[in-house]
Amino acid sequence: MQRIYADNAATTRLSIKAYNAMLPFMLTEYANASQSYTFARNSKHALQDARTKIADIIGASPEEIYFTSGGTESDNWAVLGAIKQKKQIITSSIEHHAIIRPCEYGISMGAKVSYLPVSDSGIVSALELEKLLNKNNSLVSVMLANNEIGTIEPIAQLAKISHKHNAVFHTDAVQALGHTPINVKDLDVDMMSASAHKFNGPKGIGFMYIRKGLDWDPLITGGSQEKNHRAGTENIAAIVAMAVALEENILELDKNIKHLELLENIIIEKLISSQISFLRNGDKNHIMGNMSLSFPNIGGEALLHRLDLLGISVSTGSACNSTDTQISHVLTAIGLNRKKAEGTIRISLGKDNTEEEAAIIAQKIIHILTPYSNVLIHRNNKKNYI
Ligand code: PLP
Repeated sequence: MQRIYADNAATTRLSIKAYNAMLPFMLTEYANASQSYTFARNSKHALQDARTKIADIIGASPEEIYFTSGGTESDNWAVLGAIKQKKQIITSSIEHHAIIRPCEYGISMGAKVSYLPVSDSGIVSALELEKLLNKNNSLVSVMLANNEIGTIEPIAQLAKISHKHNAVFHTDAVQALGHTPINVKDLDVDMMSASAHKFNGPKGIGFMYIRKGLDWDPLITGGSQEKNHRAGTENIAAIVAMAVALEENILELDKNIKHLELLENIIIEKLISSQISFLRNGDKNHIMGNMSLSFPNIGGEALLHRLDLLGISVSTGSACNSTDTQISHVLTAIGLNRKKAEGTIRISLGKDNTEEEAAIIAQKIIHILTPYSNVLIHRNNKKNYI
């Protein structure tokens, strides 16, 4: 059976170029970059080259890039740093748990945390942000693109408002980097989280951009790596591969976006012409390939498992365990009721997916849903939201 991987927002396949770039730093050039002997020179240079490459791509300087273990660590660093500095935290109601959980910890420690509402397409309210900001010490953290619905947030506008009130602005760009153009100076963000495995780099590696001049205490302390801001021996192989993967994606960004738009259209057109009812969540301005679709009368989990049996990997917006089905906070925040949220799947296409695969995904969904289609069309014949 042909396997079709359509969960690229969860993780991506490692780029072959990135994989090849890793090998020497595991097998031959394995020296610890902190050492001063000659053997460590290549590790040190590779570390610096990767830092420069990444900085150039996002419009930063190399000294503003701090390597971390990925998105979760970078997000925790932003929030826990704010708690330490006794800042109030303003974030959105659709952030990843890597932001939400440390915020909850902050609340338990007495920090003030506010959650900004979003529109029904998932756009964070700038007006509400302005209302919450005051001259107090604040950290505003709003994601650049949402992982469940793909919506791209108006980060430059939100950062501008935040700076007007002397707040520090952080963005979680984990879903966005490598998939949409990003320049930290144009966005005017103070901190930005990124994760390599979302752009065809290895898992367990990422970085945090911290604007020069911003005083932000380290989260992980110990050795003096990363200018005393992130202790721990650097994973040179993964860092090198991350830079290679990012560069590769950025060089082909326009082509990839166009390709993904084509794949999205194939799926949407097939679903519409099948007359199966569905709701497309998110905004027109979204990470291309990220498709959150709600189907009435079938649970997302059931649809996921039926697709899985047919060799197709997608995900749902709700996390289940045997005793409790939790509805996604993102789908709730955009106003979906429990039933619609439960009937939601996320198809996240990647640059490796083909037109044929997109057509098969749509056909299989139609095949699974066809027994229900008469009922649905009859009940709800205006439900194609595109
Ligand atoms: N932030 C967002 C928006 C994400 O989608 C993810 C991963 O799914 C993370 C943070 C966590 O990143 P990592 O897997 O690198 O820890």
